[in-house]
Amino acid sequence: MTQWLRGGSIYDVAAGAYRRGDIRIEAGRIASISDGAKPSGDDMVTDVEGAYLLPGFIDCHVHLCSPTHAAYRNNVWNGKLPGEIAIYAAEAAKRTLMGGITTARDVGGWDYHEIAVRSAINSGQIPGPRLFCAGRLLSITTATTAYFPGMYEVADGPEQVRAAARKQLAHGADLIKVMATGAMTSSEYEDARAIQFTLEELKAAVAVAEENFKHCAAHAHATDGIKNAALAGCRSVEHGTFGNEEVYGVMAEKGTYLVPTTCTTSAMLADNEISASLTPHIKERYLATDDIHLKNMDLAKRLGVPVAMGTDAGTPGNHHGDNTQELVRMVEGAGFTPHEAVHAATLGAATMLRREADLGSIDEGKYADIIGFADDPLADITVTRDVRLVMKGGDVMRYDR
Ligand SMILES: [Zn+2]
Repeated sequence: MTQWLRGGSIYDVAAGAYRRGDIRIEAGRIASISDGAKPSGDDMVTDVEGAYLLPGFIDCHVHLCSPTHAAYRNNVWNGKLPGEIAIYAAEAAKRTLMGGITTARDVGGWDYHEIAVRSAINSGQIPGPRLFCAGRLLSITTATTAYFPGMYEVADGPEQVRAAARKQLAHGADLIKVMATGAMTSSEYEDARAIQFTLEELKAAVAVAEENFKHCAAHAHATDGIKNAALAGCRSVEHGTFGNEEVYGVMAEKGTYLVPTTCTTSAMLADNEISASLTPHIKERYLATDDIHLKNMDLAKRLGVPVAMGTDAGTPGNHHGDNTQELVRMVEGAGFTPHEAVHAATLGAATMLRREADLGSIDEGKYADIIGFADDPLADITVTRDVRLVMKGGDVMRYDR
């Protein structure tokens, strides 16, 4: 059936400007924008007069299976049934979509429940964003698996890394996620700045990914890890917290995307209950790094590093569905303009995913993934916190007039 979104202001992300127009949708894709055609009697018309329409946002860093109320004292799913994790992930997917995220990249699931959720979404059983999933994330032997036994796939040395990467693909992964440095949400015995996978191990993961037409995402907080990830050919560096001019320069030169995840600390602090109950050493790490993280995101952007939006939804207090808080943080904390933040969450993210032919802008031929607002998010980024319309593949999932 032919559908229309009639009367909105449509944001052209590439041009950085609005245009007025009616959008005609056929079979889930944008068929035309104001080519003079008019709806016929059988068409379904949604009146969006006065609304500001943007491409559906893409969150490049979520963990749908990670419970945001966990205090991280041991296995975050301690004592729960596998089915409870799957149900949580399905609910998280729904909330993510209703928050304006029509595509998400899951960079560390839990025993492949998130891939089951992806299948259920794709077959129309449950609502959720288009999902690109990494399966389990690849890591060296580490104490952190105690918190996330279902999320980590331990591999040491290039041979084991290759096998572990192939295992994720065999389970249906769309990409490979690797740990190039330690993590903030790790045991007290681990340092987030420490090197984890070596350059050789990272290259092994990238090779398996690229041979299978996939990409590799690298978690990296500190300089040497960031540089290794970029040199190995990873498509994105996640967090990139403690970089400097040299390593951001390498990323810019290699075209490695930065996925900043700047809202982790602010989200944690905004939730009093979580903030009070969180394992002290993890809380201290977040607090100690917030300022430098924001400053460095600005530095990386100014050095020409391409940016794709990601929230790390799933960390303590970083609730699924609250994803647009990252856009606000990018603008208010890290010096992005609203256009830069929106670009990172749409066309930038789609290009990082190598799916810009289908996603990331409101253009003919692309999926009709469109979100709407009552006010202009390009004038005030906090407007993104109040999404009124969510259309995914031509289906109106939410419309609060
Ligand atoms: Zn993460």
